[in-house]
Amino acid sequence: MFILPELDYDFDALEPHIDAETMQIHHGKHHAKYVTNVNTAIEGTAFADLEIEELLEDSEAMEDPAIRNNAGGHFNHSLFWKQLSANPQSQPEGELAELIESTFESLDSFKEEFAKAAMSRFGSGWAWLVLKDDGTLAISSTPNQDNPLMPDVEVQGEPILGLDVWEHAYYLKYQNKRDEYIAAFWNVLDWTEVEARFEEASA
Ligand code: MN
Repeated sequence: MFILPELDYDFDALEPHIDAETMQIHHGKHHAKYVTNVNTAIEGTAFADLEIEELLEDSEAMEDPAIRNNAGGHFNHSLFWKQLSANPQSQPEGELAELIESTFESLDSFKEEFAKAAMSRFGSGWAWLVLKDDGTLAISSTPNQDNPLMPDVEVQGEPILGLDVWEHAYYLKYQNKRDEYIAAFWNVLDWTEVEARFEEASA
């Protein structure tokens, strides 16, 4: 049984970059619905006692669209909220910073490439920075609530940074201007959380 996690900050904490009304609806309605729906979908099945990561890595479970979409939605949003902050560390440090620079040349060119993946996702989905099993970093994008943990996605690995590009994540404030929402995201992204995910995945 999964539970909607509370936010570590108030709904208006990320203003003006992400507005309070969007946060309230996004967390309280959208994410809450994924939690309710995944609980319903797994109830009484062999998957009922799995941790969320185990569920997402289970190819049989991922063949059921109700489990796939709602387990993905719960995991993705839990990750998303954790990495946002009103007082973010504005750039990566240490080993992650070095790996980003050696992979993408610079933090700025990483951001450009990531934004391109987020912009070119047609319809609803996510953009990711993924730590692959071979220890390299890759940028990817997935449709719907898919994510890099799922067995059948194009770029597989540990998601260490994720951006929600569903219209529900930005439409109230940015309408059709997804590019402005992506640019604003960097202002509230806390790299300490990305580093923590990176370190955990590398361990
Ligand atoms: Mn969302």
